[in-house]
Amino acid sequence: MPVKESSSAPMPFDAPVDALPGVGKSSVAKLQRLGIETTGDLVLHLPFRYQDRTRSVPLDEVQAGQECLVTGCVATSSIAYGRRRSLMARIEDDAGALTLRWFHFSSSQRQAMQPGVWLRCFGEVRPGPTGLEMPHPDYRLHHEQPGPPAGELTPIYRVTQGLASARLAKWVTAALANCQDLPCSSLDGFEFTNLLDAIGFLHAPSDEIESSTEDSSQASAAGLRDRLQAARHRVVLDELVGHYLILKRRKALVQAQAARALPSKQQLGREMLDQLGFRLTRAQARVVGEVLTDLAAERPMMRLVQGDVGAGKTVVAAFAAIRAAEHGCQTAVMAPTEILAEQHFETLSQWLPPLGIGVGLITGRQSAAERRARLAAIADGGDLVVVGTHALFQSGVQFHRLALAVIDEQHRFGVHQRMQLRDKGNLPHQLVMTATPIPRTLTMAFYADMDISTIDELPPGRLPVRTHLASMARRAEVIERVVNACAAGKQVYWVCTAIEEEAEIDGRPRSNAALATLEELSQAVPENLRLGLVHGRLLAAEKRAAMAAFKAGETDILVATTVIEVGVDVPNATVMIIDNAERLGLAQLHQLRGRVGRGSQQSECILLFEPPLSAVARQRLSIMRETNDGFRIAEKDLELRGPGDILGTRQTGEQTFKLVDMAKDRTLLPQAVKLGDRLLAEDPPMAQLIVDTWLRGETEYATV
Ligand code: ADP
Ligand code: MG
Repeated sequence: MPVKESSSAPMPFDAPVDALPGVGKSSVAKLQRLGIETTGDLVLHLPFRYQDRTRSVPLDEVQAGQECLVTGCVATSSIAYGRRRSLMARIEDDAGALTLRWFHFSSSQRQAMQPGVWLRCFGEVRPGPTGLEMPHPDYRLHHEQPGPPAGELTPIYRVTQGLASARLAKWVTAALANCQDLPCSSLDGFEFTNLLDAIGFLHAPSDEIESSTEDSSQASAAGLRDRLQAARHRVVLDELVGHYLILKRRKALVQAQAARALPSKQQLGREMLDQLGFRLTRAQARVVGEVLTDLAAERPMMRLVQGDVGAGKTVVAAFAAIRAAEHGCQTAVMAPTEILAEQHFETLSQWLPPLGIGVGLITGRQSAAERRARLAAIADGGDLVVVGTHALFQSGVQFHRLALAVIDEQHRFGVHQRMQLRDKGNLPHQLVMTATPIPRTLTMAFYADMDISTIDELPPGRLPVRTHLASMARRAEVIERVVNACAAGKQVYWVCTAIEEEAEIDGRPRSNAALATLEELSQAVPENLRLGLVHGRLLAAEKRAAMAAFKAGETDILVATTVIEVGVDVPNATVMIIDNAERLGLAQLHQLRGRVGRGSQQSECILLFEPPLSAVARQRLSIMRETNDGFRIAEKDLELRGPGDILGTRQTGEQTFKLVDMAKDRTLLPQAVKLGDRLLAEDPPMAQLIVDTWLRGETEYATV
């Protein structure tokens, strides 16, 4: 086998890992499992924590669960005979005592544990039968009290089977050494000017100043942690700026594309207003205006419309589609679920055909003949508005003149899917609608590629949903309440969130949780009440029938899974029960609850929970009871568990961070945006360098 030579030229970030000395074929496979393929990936595989050996923790300060360095003098040692034989040594310092325990030990080890001997140990503290213990510590014996620790922060890496953190650390060191001279951002005003220095420090935090006394060692340990913080801050900021700049560039790239200009033409919008049956809220009118202005331009619109559940986003989309239709151009309306596609189809079918605009529906489960007919109508422009799910992206759907893509509940679609809609060299205008309120700090950074409109007002007459919590012990009472509500002519959603066990019935998978609840309710409620059932595994036609019956008031109680989460609109349904509400996240609870309170009647939502509640679940349910304000709920959600849920694929599918942890780093977003804007204006080459660092390996969708 040829020996790999270490060359003097820096290895590029995209050099494969096996170009590094010591990395062989089997290692490559293991690294791949960690998403590491290149030298750069390795360099950016940063430690997720450190073992802190810089400070010896006084024994009265140690806590269960803590991993720490301790120093003490052996007071007693003995063999304990419990379920398993173990060697125990009790160590003491000025402040307290701690038991060390070994289940495997040699006789020489046992001999060495003599009273009066000093031990310096590193390990995790756990509760034991006689108080706190440190099982199987790494330790060193001393004949007298050892001086201050000269220890370090040992980086701990995310690893995989058959690959230890220490081995990974070696490769990281090799990778760092080989790419040391690569160009990376260099930013003034930070403790680490150069990015690679900060990265190097995170991998190997070390203190240049030798410390001799206890005091100076404590001080330098604190200094080390401060520098670590500074290094992390520097890298996190670079990464945030990188993602921001990537989005900005996407925006610039998209705006450099051609799109069909759709200026005002036939006043069909006026007719729509007249037939609508309600007046637009001020917020809706403003947002419609913003959208129509965008459409009049020759570059593609990229607009995100956010508005809380029930704010009335669909009508905004309708006005946009009407404008396209005035020019004989098509609109694709994409929904994340079949139910929602179905519903948009129905809504738009009420509004648009009277204006002479044909509406079609494409779903994944249409019959071949039905589908052929629809495809033909789309291809010859007979359907100017086409509603569908992912099926719309499939090749086979040939648009006649596609000019606008409306994407509802944006987070369910990836950018890549959207881009497949390009029509004859033109990018369609894009109108993205989301009902998940996104806090401003996040929109600035994560939607930097879009313009944002907010419908910050609900249609008049809406009453906030009254939300109650009830433990499972009160289930019978809740059912009684449902019965009374139905007797008063109301309709009820009963949402099942229990984990579904899949089962095959008649060769078709069924949703057990919803089925079991349906069974339970049909036993418990009077016979005259009509029950419906909808869940994700029903056939499209079955789902459609169930939703239609509920919408028409032919069912009183709709037992459903969370498939009804987004967008479903049945104004007469004013009661919602969410079973096992403690299992759901805030964003989802808010979406679900948004299914009621859509008419002018007082609605209520009962969150049924299984005690005992975890602290976080309790906070979630309380905030749901306190407020209907989606923005407040989103802020709370961020606080409780970071933005993953809010941003959906924005963060997970399209942008995964190497180091940034949104839950704790989002406070840096404003700074990142400011810095990014400044670099764009004053130092484009540096901005480019940052983009190159963080874009490695990813394809840029808008490179057209
Ligand atoms: P969402 O923003 O959640 O998508 P929808 O577009 O489904 O909301 O609208 C919710 C309900 O409110 C629908 O029944 C819709 O017809 C109605 N609506 C929308 N705008 C108004 C308005 N300005 N006045 C009265 N009702 C409205
Ligand atoms: Mg909607």
